[in-house]
Amino acid sequence: MTPKQFVDYAKDKVEQAGVKLILADREYLYIDNVNVNGYFSEEDMQLVCATGRPLKLWFPIFVHEFCHFEQMQDDCRAWKQSRINGVDPSDQFFNWIVNGKYPFLRMKEIAKRLRICETDCERRSVKNIKKFKLPLDSKEYCQRANAYIYFYNYALLKRRWWRRGHAPYDQKGLYSRFPTDLNQRYDKLSKKYVELYDEFCWGFFLQIS
Ligand SMILES: [Zn+2]
Repeated sequence: MTPKQFVDYAKDKVEQAGVKLILADREYLYIDNVNVNGYFSEEDMQLVCATGRPLKLWFPIFVHEFCHFEQMQDDCRAWKQSRINGVDPSDQFFNWIVNGKYPFLRMKEIAKRLRICETDCERRSVKNIKKFKLPLDSKEYCQRANAYIYFYNYALLKRRWWRRGHAPYDQKGLYSRFPTDLNQRYDKLSKKYVELYDEFCWGFFLQIS
C-alpha cells in the first residue's frame, strides 16, 4: 500500500469512529508549549499530523499516531493505564520538565505508563507496516522506535526533553545504535544510551520540542 492509500484507509477508519483527521502542512505543531510532529487526542477526538516535512519523516509519525487511535478503539490496557482519571498525563510530564513542580515519584509512574503505552503503539505500528506492506523499512522503524521509547527513561533521569529539531528518531547517528526489534527490556536504561542522548539530543538551550 502506498502512503496515500494508507492515509485514505486511516481517514475512513478514524472518521467512522467520529475522530477528525487533520493533516497540517507545517513542520511542527505547537500544543501546550511543546512542539510535536503529530498527536492523537482522545479528549478532542482528533488525529493530527504535521506533513510539512519530507514524506519519509512524517509518514512514520502518521502510522504511529494512527496506532494510538487503534489503541483507543481496542480499549487496550497500555492505552487505558497511560491515562490518569481518563486524561493524558503528558502535559504534566512536560510541565515537570520545564518547572520541576511535581513530585518525582509521581513523574516516575507517569513516565513508566507513557513508555509502556508508546511501546505497545510502536509494536502495533510495526504490525501495520508489515500487514499493509508500507514502504518503510521495519528494522529501521524499530531502531527509531527504540530510540524514542528509551528516551522516556532519559527524560525522567535528567528532567530534559530533546532540543527542537533533535528528536532521537530523526537522527541516524543515534538511532542506528539501537536494536532492530522491539523485544527489549525498556525499564533499564544503559549508560551507553544516556551518553548518546546527551550527545545528540541535548545542548545549551533548555528548549522543549
Ligand atoms: Zn506516541
